[in-house]
Amino acid sequence: MATRPDCIFCKIVRGEAPAHRVYEDELTLVFMDIFPVTDGHTLVITRDHFENVFEADEVALTAIARTSHKVAAAIRSALAPDGLMIFQLNGQAAGQTVFHYHMHLMPRTSGEPLALHTRVPGVPARLAELAGKLARALALVLAVAHMACLTPASVRQEREVWRGEWNARVLAAKTAWENPCATRPFIAWADPFLASCPEGDESAECSARRDWVEDRVDQCRAWTAWQLRNFNKHERTEGEPPSVLID
Ligand code: 5GP
Ligand code: ZN
Repeated sequence: MATRPDCIFCKIVRGEAPAHRVYEDELTLVFMDIFPVTDGHTLVITRDHFENVFEADEVALTAIARTSHKVAAAIRSALAPDGLMIFQLNGQAAGQTVFHYHMHLMPRTSGEPLALHTRVPGVPARLAELAGKLARALALVLAVAHMACLTPASVRQEREVWRGEWNARVLAAKTAWENPCATRPFIAWADPFLASCPEGDESAECSARRDWVEDRVDQCRAWTAWQLRNFNKHERTEGEPPSVLID
């Protein structure tokens, strides 16, 4: 690993200097800026020492982008700022003060004057609190990203097609009996939809198809209950039925 004995960020990576750490992985480290310009000002750095963007290799650049993207989501969910400024300085002329490649993530409030640096240190208790908050939010972001990766891209694309087909059926229905949630149309839709998936087939495709049908069953329950309440007496009493369109 490329490291420099006197670089402050290398010292943080090696655990020789303290920092309010938020997250770390194989290639990157995230911690609170000790001189925060705004509440929640966070740094994403490479574990390896690169002076700036010109020295950093593609693997490092990609890793910084990937981690920054997740930290951005965590900042948004934990702090809900008006805006988020993400920037990276190269060379003294650009304002760089620590010569170890890193990204700034700075939550911003509307109307606040723009600044890149301050020399006012953060309150340690607040930095620790923010680090904890962001770490928890980030854990959630990572869990969701992990779940999304478990769903193959092909299945995600297919869901778009399925959604279009279902919504088209809903919109084409002229009477309640043609609604895809009505018993006969539902069976007529579900049977062929699951025909390629014999019981016991646990492939991603078949699991996705079964989940899709289950979701529709859940969704149709409210619609069916409305039908029972409103059509038993052959009259509408509660206005429009619940929509069964998929967003
Ligand atoms: P640059 O000016 O190089 O883009 O950003 C360096 C940042 O690192 C500044 O925002 C500065 O406040 C921050 N910084 C400098 N020394 C330390 C330190 O020892 N610990 C932490 N957490 N941040 C530091
Ligand atoms: Zn360094």
